[in-house]
Amino acid sequence: MPQSLHHLVPKLKGGKGGPVVLLHAICHKEIHAALSEADLARSYATIEALRAHPRLARFIDWVAKRPPGFLSRVPGGRRARQR
Ligand SMILES: [Zn+2]
Repeated sequence: MPQSLHHLVPKLKGGKGGPVVLLHAICHKEIHAALSEADLARSYATIEALRAHPRLARFIDWVAKRPPGFLSRVPGGRRARQR
């Protein structure tokens, strides 16, 4: 299943060379849809903070209930963007 690296502090906000986490591409996309890079840098620079975000918490909950293999069939998941 596609995975991509997420910079906990966006590169544009000084996170170059900083900590990264490996996420499923679908989760990574959702994080960037829910939060701007400024939000990420300011308030969501840890996995715990991301998990506590209301929209992302709902999303993670939803994804966890999908059947196995669901993630690999998401369209557009191939060109994982790195940030
Ligand atoms: Zn990212």
